[in-house]
Amino acid sequence: MAFEPFEKVALIGLGLIGSSLSHVMRREKLAKAISGHARSAATRDRAMELGLADTMHEHAADAVRDADLVVLCVPVGVCGVVAQAISGALKPGAIVTDVGSVKAAVIRDVAPHIPDGIHFIPGHPIAGTEYSGPDSGFASLFENRWCILTPPSGSDAGATARLTAFWQACGSNVDVMGADHHDRVLSITSHLPQLIAFNIVTTAADLEEVSQQEVIKYSAGGFRDFTRIAASDPTMWRDIYLNNKQAVLEMLGRFSEDMSALQRAIRWGDGDMLFDTFTRARGIRQRIIEAGQDTDKPDFGRGGQQSDPEALPDGKDPNP
Ligand code: NAP
Repeated sequence: MAFEPFEKVALIGLGLIGSSLSHVMRREKLAKAISGHARSAATRDRAMELGLADTMHEHAADAVRDADLVVLCVPVGVCGVVAQAISGALKPGAIVTDVGSVKAAVIRDVAPHIPDGIHFIPGHPIAGTEYSGPDSGFASLFENRWCILTPPSGSDAGATARLTAFWQACGSNVDVMGADHHDRVLSITSHLPQLIAFNIVTTAADLEEVSQQEVIKYSAGGFRDFTRIAASDPTMWRDIYLNNKQAVLEMLGRFSEDMSALQRAIRWGDGDMLFDTFTRARGIRQRIIEAGQDTDKPDFGRGGQQSDPEALPDGKDPNP
């Protein structure tokens, strides 16, 4: 069934996610008008140049006036401040959602500022790249990716259904789950891998016996892929760890125990243990490919020596 477009959608934040939403909304005609707000004049000007919004506003409250859908596309740590700023200007019956990578903390910070008669349905598209800013977005970012909605109990079912249809029209598959469960799942699938990437890159940079030049020269041995992940926006990731502390610390504990087991196996020459662990890991990779969540092309289909003709422009990778 064709998606009935929103009269007006307000995008608060026009970085990677906000600009990608604009591109897909334009392509699929999901909104008759788009208004926007970003913190800096530079981003607001650039968003206008790129046609990401029909109007850009210095104050978030002006952007959300008359909007039927408001999407907070800002770092998790400022969602509460932004919600407070727009609270009095929201249109009765509007849907307010977000795209933050952590859900319980966003609900804690945003929900108190949502007036009666407005539907707050938090969301998180599991799609991204290491790029940020208004130039980084592209319309296919959400295609065949999951978007998780975490409506608090008592939320309006009609609003959740409308938002589900919106994300499906953006090309996503939609799942609904509790915010706490979301935060635990993402702590292992996203937050911990990212932390490992940040850590391994800085460990390599601090090594005394291997020169930085050698680290860069021989990076194709695996390190390079960690550096791509570690190139993500520091503000966004700082906010994620500060706001998903409990789940990340718990997963980090499990991870450290398992790493110690591998360390012991290496020390005692337990090849069977190593072989079995690596075989299980390889099987999981295969299942991700079968689920259509990554490509089995060499180099992740990212280009380079075995270049993929369908690779995204500028080396953008929809599978961060
Ligand atoms: P981004 O490219 O860095 O863009 C962030 C945007 O938020 C910018 O337009 C920025 O404006 C604006 N902003 C920051 N602080 C603000 C404030 N106090 N008031 C108003 N606007 C403010 O970030 P992103 O990658 O799109 O991430 C946005 C959200 O999506 C985050 O919550 C993140 O957790 C979530 N997310 C990200 C990914 C990913 O891979 N990147 C994936 C899924 C979900 P200026 O440019 O003017 O500073």
